[in-house]
Formats: sequence, C-alpha cells, structure tokens
Amino acid sequence: MPKPSVTIGQRKKIALIAHDNKKTDLLDWVKFNKGTLLNHELFATGTTGKLLEKELGCEITIFESGPLGGDQQIGSRIAEGAIDFLIFFWDPLEPLPHDPDIKALLRVAAVWNIPVACNRTSADFLISSPLMNREYTRMLPDYEAYRQRFKDRNSIRN
Ligand code: PGA
Repeated sequence: MPKPSVTIGQRKKIALIAHDNKKTDLLDWVKFNKGTLLNHELFATGTTGKLLEKELGCEITIFESGPLGGDQQIGSRIAEGAIDFLIFFWDPLEPLPHDPDIKALLRVAAVWNIPVACNRTSADFLISSPLMNREYTRMLPDYEAYRQRFKDRNSIRN
C-alpha cells in the first residue's frame, strides 16, 4: 500500500508569525528575502501580517492577533492542508498569555510534518533550500489506524 503523503506545491503556502520581541528580526529577514517570498502565498497573525504587508507591498491573508486566537487559526489551516510551511519567530525569554496556543501550533505542525523555522538561522536554511522552487512530497505518518481505532466496538473493551 502506498504511504500517505501530500504535495507541497512549488508555490508554497507560508505562515509567518513573530512575537513582539522578534518582530524586528522577522521584518529584517523578510526584507532580505522579499524576492523569494513574493513567489509564494503568505499568511500571518494580525500584527505581524500588517507589518509584513507594509514591508512587502503585497496582499497577505491576515488572521487574528496571536493572543486573540491567530495561532490557533493557523494551526487549523495546517490541519486542513491550507498552510504547508511555518516561519515562527517565537520568543524563548518571555512568558506570554497564549503560551498554550503556541505549543499547540508547534505540535500540530509536527503532526502534519510541515517545515518549521523558529529562528532566523533555520529560516535562512529553509528558504535557501532548492526544494523551495519545486514540488515536494510530504510524507505523513499513517493516521488511519488511529482514526479507525474505535470502529470495532470490541476494541473498546480490550
Ligand atoms: P501578532 O501575534 O502577529 O498579532 O503580534 C503573534 C503572536 O503573538 O503569536
């Protein structure tokens, strides 16, 4: 049986998020990589998105601000396959009110095996990969057994 997989297209659906102490870092990075980023479809949380639209001069799909649910919105799009790439400059030195949402987003990105960069160096390596310019087959763990686990009612009793 073929292994479950999905295709990340040549034009990637990239979500960008930066916590307040990391916004300057992300803006610098975006400015440097503007030419590449404009070839892709971009998504962002509220405040990050507004700053990026100004910097890039292009339209971005902007969700709620992170603390108001934006991270969760991006997580749900990852689960649906509507976002397939995450650049998330989160702040490792500051506790935030939406820490559980941040953990949930990183978790769902791992569940769906999407590329994630949590700092500038990782983002540099990801964006300079030759895979940025072509389709990529993203392998998925086989979640079918998990989905079907209660199909046979007897398995509940065992
Ligand atoms: P923001 O949200 O882009 O609205 O600042 C980012 C976050 O804190 O997750």
